[in-house]
Amino acid sequence: MSFTSLGLSPALAQAASAQGYLAPTAVQLAAVPAILQGHDVLATAQTGSGKTAAYCLPLLQQWLTGSQAAPRQTHTLILLPTRELAAQVGDTLRQLAQDLPRRPKIAVVFGGVSINPQMMALRGGADIVAATPGRLLDLLAHNALRLSAVKTLVLDEADRLLDLGFADELSRVLALLPPYRQNLLFSATFPPAVRALAEQLLNQPQRIDITPSDAAAPDIRQRVIEVDAAQRTLLLRHLLHTHGWERVLVFVASRHSADRVAGKLQAAGIRAAALHGDCSQGQRGQVLADLKSGRLQVLVATDVAARGIDIARLPAVVNYDLPRSPVDYTHRIGRTGRAGASGEAISFVSADCAAHFQLIEKRQRLRLPRERIAGFEPKAAAPETAVPANDGNGGIKGKRKSKKDKLREAAAREQAERS
Ligand code: AMP
Repeated sequence: MSFTSLGLSPALAQAASAQGYLAPTAVQLAAVPAILQGHDVLATAQTGSGKTAAYCLPLLQQWLTGSQAAPRQTHTLILLPTRELAAQVGDTLRQLAQDLPRRPKIAVVFGGVSINPQMMALRGGADIVAATPGRLLDLLAHNALRLSAVKTLVLDEADRLLDLGFADELSRVLALLPPYRQNLLFSATFPPAVRALAEQLLNQPQRIDITPSDAAAPDIRQRVIEVDAAQRTLLLRHLLHTHGWERVLVFVASRHSADRVAGKLQAAGIRAAALHGDCSQGQRGQVLADLKSGRLQVLVATDVAARGIDIARLPAVVNYDLPRSPVDYTHRIGRTGRAGASGEAISFVSADCAAHFQLIEKRQRLRLPRERIAGFEPKAAAPETAVPANDGNGGIKGKRKSKKDKLREAAAREQAERS
C-alpha cells in the first residue's frame, strides 16, 4: 500500500519517502484516510508506531488544500504535554513540509523560554500551532493568538493531557475553541477513566486500535535484575561495560537522583548528563542533542523524558528507580525498540520495591524472570508486610488486609520514601 493510495497528494507521498518511509505503518494506514475524510479519531497506537506522521501528513494535506490563517489566528492546534514533544512534532512537520510547493507557517510554543519571540512568530498568524497547554494559555492571555478559527484539534499523548495534572489548563483551552471542529486524539495508552473523558470530546469518532500484533510489535526485551538499592550505580557501570551500549537512557525517580547518579557516572569517566524539569530549556535540548549525536553515552532522566521522545538507535533503557505507575512503565520502555530496531528495557528491583514491581507486572499482564548478576546479588531482605498485631484489626477474620492492600501499601510506602 502506498501513501498516495491513502489519499495523500503526490507531494506529500514524496515528502514521506524523502524521510525514508517506504510504506505506511499500521496506524498511518488507518488514521490518514479517516483524518482526510474529516472524521474525529481516537487512536491507540504503540509508541514508535509512526503515530506522529499519522496525523502530521493529513494535517499538511488539509493545509495545502485550505485557506491561510488570518493574523493571530490558526486553523490547526496540536497540544502536547511536554516541551520536548512539542519541539519534536514541530521538527517532524517542518521535515515533511520542506519540499512542498509552498511552506506552512508552523509555530512551536512551549514554556521555559522567553515568550517574546513566540508572540512575534504568531503576529501574522500560523497555519499550524504545536503547543504545551500552559504556554498556550499565557499567549492567549497576551492576546498573541486567538483560537476561534481552529478547525482541527490534535491531542497527542492524549491520556496525559486529559489526566488530572492538565485538566484545568485543558478545559480552559477547550472553552476557547469553536464547538464544531475535528478532534484527533492519539496515545499509546488510554486508561478506562481517561477514555471516558476522551469520548466526551469526540463526535462519532473512528476508533483505531493498533495492538502490538497488528503493528510491527516493538522488539523490546524486558529484563528484571534483583539488586540492593545501594549497589545500583555499580551495577549500572558494570552493565555499561559488559554490554557496550552506544547510548542509554536511565530513568530515576527525582531530580536530585538524576543529578546524583549522573555525577557518579561522570566521576567514573562515563559521558553522562542529567535531564529533569529543573534544567533550562537550552540544557534540555542540548543534552538530548548530545545523546543523539553520540557525545553523551548515558542520559539520566526523570519522567520528563518518558513520553514520546524519539531517540533513534537507543539500544537500552534502564529503570534505575521504578516508575510510579504501569502506564509510565509502558512509556519509559517505549523509548527503545523504535522504528523496527530491537532494544532492552532493564528494571532494577531491590527488596523494598519488589511488591511495587509485581503490581506493574500485574497491570501489564506480565511475569518476568528475575535475574541476578554475579557480584551484585542482593543481600537485603524484603520489608515485613504482615499486619502488625496492634494495628487495630489484626486477628479479626474478614478484617485482615488483603494481599492487594498489602501490595498497595508497600508501593505507597516506597513512593513516599522517594518523594
Ligand atoms: P512515532 O511513533 O511517531 O514516535 O515514530 C517513530 C519513528 O518511526 C520516527 O523516527 C519516525 O520517523 C519513524 N516513522 C514514521 N513513519 C514511518 C514509516 N511509514 N516508515 C518508517 N518509519 C517511520
